[in-house]
Amino acid sequence: MTEATAPDRDRPANDTSEAPPARSGPGSSAATLAPQYSAADLEGPLYAEWEARGYFSPAAGDARPFVIVIPPPNVTDVLHMGHGLNNTVQDVLIRFERMRGRAALWLPGTDHAGIATQNVVERLLAAEGKTRFDLGREAFVERVWAHVRATRHTILDQLRAIGCSCDWTRTRFTLDPAMSRAVRETFVRLWEEGLIYRGYRVIHWCPRCHTALSDEEAEHEDVEGAFYHIRYPLADADGHITVATTRPETMLGDVAVAVNPGDAARAAYVGRHVILPIAELEIPIIADEHVEAAFGTGFVKITPAHDADDFEVGKRHELATPIVMTPEARMADAALNGKPGGRVPEPIFGMDRFEARTAIVAMLKERGLLEKVESRVHAVRHCYRCGTVVEPRLSDQWFVTMEPLAAPALEAYRRGDVRFIPERRGAEFEQWLTGIRDWNISRQLWWGHRIPVWYCDQCGLQQAFREDPAACPACGAKLRQDEDVLDTWFSSWLWPFSTLGWPEQTADLARFYPTDVLVTAPEILFFWVARMIMAGLHFLGRVPFHTVYLHGTVRDTHHVKMSKSLGNGIDPLEVVRRFGADALRFAITSGLAVGTDIVLDPDDLDTSFAAGRNFANKLWNVGRLLLSSLGEEAVRPLADVPRAERKLADRWILSRLARAVRETTEHLEKCRLNDAVGTPYHFLWDDFADWYLEEIKPRLRGEAPGGEAARSVAAAAFATVLRLLHPAMPFITETLYRRLPGRADSSIVVAPWPAPEGGWDDPAAERDFGFVQALVNAVREVRADYGVKPGQEVPAFVAKCSREQQAALDAEDAMIRRLAKIGSLAPFAQASALGKVGAHALLPEGAELFVGLGDAIDVAKECARLGAERERLDRQIAGLKSKLANPGFTGRAPAEVVERERTKEREWSVQREALAAKLAALGCA
Ligand SMILES: [Zn+2]
Ligand SMILES: [Zn+2]
Repeated sequence: MTEATAPDRDRPANDTSEAPPARSGPGSSAATLAPQYSAADLEGPLYAEWEARGYFSPAAGDARPFVIVIPPPNVTDVLHMGHGLNNTVQDVLIRFERMRGRAALWLPGTDHAGIATQNVVERLLAAEGKTRFDLGREAFVERVWAHVRATRHTILDQLRAIGCSCDWTRTRFTLDPAMSRAVRETFVRLWEEGLIYRGYRVIHWCPRCHTALSDEEAEHEDVEGAFYHIRYPLADADGHITVATTRPETMLGDVAVAVNPGDAARAAYVGRHVILPIAELEIPIIADEHVEAAFGTGFVKITPAHDADDFEVGKRHELATPIVMTPEARMADAALNGKPGGRVPEPIFGMDRFEARTAIVAMLKERGLLEKVESRVHAVRHCYRCGTVVEPRLSDQWFVTMEPLAAPALEAYRRGDVRFIPERRGAEFEQWLTGIRDWNISRQLWWGHRIPVWYCDQCGLQQAFREDPAACPACGAKLRQDEDVLDTWFSSWLWPFSTLGWPEQTADLARFYPTDVLVTAPEILFFWVARMIMAGLHFLGRVPFHTVYLHGTVRDTHHVKMSKSLGNGIDPLEVVRRFGADALRFAITSGLAVGTDIVLDPDDLDTSFAAGRNFANKLWNVGRLLLSSLGEEAVRPLADVPRAERKLADRWILSRLARAVRETTEHLEKCRLNDAVGTPYHFLWDDFADWYLEEIKPRLRGEAPGGEAARSVAAAAFATVLRLLHPAMPFITETLYRRLPGRADSSIVVAPWPAPEGGWDDPAAERDFGFVQALVNAVREVRADYGVKPGQEVPAFVAKCSREQQAALDAEDAMIRRLAKIGSLAPFAQASALGKVGAHALLPEGAELFVGLGDAIDVAKECARLGAERERLDRQIAGLKSKLANPGFTGRAPAEVVERERTKEREWSVQREALAAKLAALGCA
């Protein structure tokens, strides 16, 4: 799309668009409403006005705060549907609480996103034929900054386009100086508490990104792989043992073969040696608890530098830790500094790890050492940023001891200080915390917070500093800073309080911490949510939020998660251009039940967003009709309309409204967004537009009494439902709200959230108007059943009505006759005059309806049609009966087939009875 497109202009106008003439002339509210709703023209200017008026900043004063911190998108991100979903949910909640009078703060910002952003810029460099090493650290970081400065506003502007009411005056970036201070303070405090340590151990290494990854960043994925059974010849005798592995290339780093100490069958091997093929080295057979006797062949190869468990075995037995791959995952013996030989002889030397796997397997086969190959599905870890298979690799890294941080988080969860929606996510959280592992926080990247540890090569000092040190405090020599940067999540986990100024004791921190709700995708529960809870408790003594709402994901019609790389995404901005932000938000909220995903069709945006667009059009048309009737004159406040002046329909719609207000409020409080938008949607469409507006049309035109009351009730009800809809559809609700009489200078953004007023609840009115609706619907059904022409009036008669029912019919007589196209509505006693040609129907509480059809239809023709239909049905039933009477069928056919035929017979019999009744009612022969 290259230009903005107005929403369908060729859409047929629906019934409510036939507005009566305006009461006042040109210049009235309705006159300024275009015949068609055009989101593209209205949304941008409205948003700018809201922002300029400062509505998005929390009001000063002592209103109770309601705070959400945004899950910061990556600074180079471009808005996708995942963001669209996540941020719409946050905006709905924040707008709701703002209207409820809370000092609402939605704090926005972006994340520097270490690996992701570095990758983006490295790709740009690659296009110029360069690597980051060609530039050097300083120039590269400057290049990333330049890129970030150029792109950092993109996603924030896109959030504006979908209506997000963030407080932009408080926008944060995880590499801002204030945020860097918080990171530095955190690191040094943990250091001082002895919770940060340097460890030489096997970590997850991405050979493409050239960095270590945390457990969470190395994502499991099941892949179809091979399980190679390899013979290791005995060193002191003929024969061999067999080990099995999915990664034969790592065998060159084997330093032992282990068996379980209790494995009697293999006990005799312990202490002997085998020859490691290809490397041609003698390695011992040892016993270690880590080996399960039942696993594989019972012999397990031990590769301490390339497997985390083997590393532990190696430590217990004081084994060597040879590294046999370069950081790029090419085969080389680290001890030989890039020369072939040692454990990695020619021709394996220099090969990529997967090439090497093929070559090694071929060599083993040639030497008769490959016993067999089984195929099996096993979990392989992949880099969460680039998808490369992660290589376990022995490396020096910084870790945070997590157990002391996890314990208070676990307690807080069990105390109920933080709850999850949906609840089952809490169990996952609990489980992860229970089995928590130390957090590898160092990354071999250049983009990020550099680790604030300095080394003295003179005296060996190694220390973390809050301020960059000038010289070694011990010996005065020059210091050298650690080359690595911190994991991106090391700044993200401070987000709920670093954004408020911590470690300074700012006014914002005092007022807005702890925050209220965190809204995020379930994928980052461990990466981020759990760690924020730990950090909040550890550094501020309180959980950072009381509720974590983990929403679903956006999927296509094949239920595949939308992603740019799969090409099944939807660009939210294209949706905004074509259908408006409100239509986008409606599709998201109305589809979002707790614990479910949203399904949209990327190939059919018209269908995916039709409901939202149609509803916006409906609101618009209702608004036009109403506004043109209300005119410019002040409408009497509803509270000043005495009950005696309110007709049955007025009392009914207010009672329905009270229910809608209460339900919508409760749904929003419980984050049930689909119901929170569904309730006012149905009120507006099914109750207000379909019935109430129809009822009051003549009153508004002055053709029936009660016009003033109708105006008051309609204006109040419409203003109320607009407010209920505002969190989900901010733009159209504001546009219409301001045009209501007396509201030109107000804004729905800061309008109070509605509460049912005294006297709105009216069960009797709901029951009585419900009876009227049942009667109209019954007549409509009869008309459809007998094919009565739309314009043709029919006489209707009621019997056995209660006093209240009769009163309701009298009160709404004009509407009933108009909506059901009834010429006369009379008591049943007068029906005899019609010669009894017509249809019966039952109404609520035992009342009955008779619709005269003698003059409305060609009775002889209808008798012939119904008669023919009855004959056809009779033949079908007879055929089915004889089939079911035949033991050859019932005895041999599967039970469910027989049951299906029996059900069919019952259904046809019911149909036949109905037909017979119709024929009798029409007096057919
Ligand atoms: Zn990677
Ligand atoms: Zn020193």
